[in-house]
Amino acid sequence: MPVLEDIQSANEEYATDFDKGHLPMPPGRKFAVVTCMDARLDPAKFLGLEEGDAHVIRNAGGLVTDDALRSLVISHNLLGTQDVFVIAHTDCGMLTFSNDELQEQLGTDIEFHPFSDLDESVRASVERVRESSICSDSVHGFVYEVETGRLREVA
Ligand SMILES: [Zn+2]
Repeated sequence: MPVLEDIQSANEEYATDFDKGHLPMPPGRKFAVVTCMDARLDPAKFLGLEEGDAHVIRNAGGLVTDDALRSLVISHNLLGTQDVFVIAHTDCGMLTFSNDELQEQLGTDIEFHPFSDLDESVRASVERVRESSICSDSVHGFVYEVETGRLREVA
């Protein structure tokens, strides 16, 4: 199992110089990010994050789903985050299928929440956070461009 061995060995190396065991639970920079699980996105790198800085909530599409909202409510109310950044990205897999197609193909009734308009999807997620009245005045939406590594503000 080379992948298993690889991650164990990488972790061993990480833990060797580890000196962040004292960090408090609340994010030091007081913000939360909702973004896609896409492997090309490394929020710690493109947002300049260190351990302990921010909450990063990831799912397929970077959507503010019921479960993402659950995490945001905890993040804001219990752990003090004040700003929310919703970050979708170009070339997202969620632009490539329909809910009906995938349900049919996989024989499931799971709601996959695909979308056809990237910017509109980000705006809808931002609106969902605003309507939930958590962090309502400080919610921002971006599209991360996998081609350039840059963020484009859309909401
Ligand atoms: Zn994606």
